[in-house]
Amino acid sequence: MGRRIVFLGPPGAGKGTQAERLARAIGVPHISTGVMLRQNVADGTDLGLEAQAIMAAGELVPDDLVVAMVDERLGQDDAACGFLLDGFPRTLAQAEALDAVIGEGTMEIAVLLEADEDELVRRLMQRAVDEGRDDDNEDTIRNRLRVYRQETEPLVGYYPEHGVPVLPVDGLGTIDDVFARIVAVLAEH
Ligand code: ADP
Repeated sequence: MGRRIVFLGPPGAGKGTQAERLARAIGVPHISTGVMLRQNVADGTDLGLEAQAIMAAGELVPDDLVVAMVDERLGQDDAACGFLLDGFPRTLAQAEALDAVIGEGTMEIAVLLEADEDELVRRLMQRAVDEGRDDDNEDTIRNRLRVYRQETEPLVGYYPEHGVPVLPVDGLGTIDDVFARIVAVLAEH
């Protein structure tokens, strides 16, 4: 079955950076729904066309579309020996759909990357400048944080109730500092 890890945390907490690095370190695929969706938008697929405006507004792409995309990805050979999920699940319905695919309680661990709201907004505004993502303007950022609190934060309660430990990690500091904290909490489990 291999290692099965999910990264939770608000937009701007640094999930993408840390998840990519950890996935490489432990040799499992980094599966990021944000990356996959942006690729669909860039490629102009049917899914991309449907997702584009939703993402630009900071709303969530409908569960059935995202679940189908992840289901397909998890069926590929490289995911047979573990995976690291980033940006998915993002709703309780997605978590339940995932459990139906991989088996309830078979996720090994959830890493919850945390940072306070001011720091999140600061980082997302900076990313708007650096990367030019069209969902990184202030209104959309506020909306994404609101959507996170409402839709995604309940997963922090869901996983322990389903036998999956949630390990909080402070996302403040350098990339190396945060990575070292993640490695340390994983080593204890
Ligand atoms: P961030 O971590 O900064 O929020 P992501 O790259 O994870 O950014 O996601 C960007 C956008 O893609 C989200 O705001 C949302 O519109 C869409 N998206 C990504 N993952 C999901 C998901 N699991 N369910 C629904 N929408 C998603």
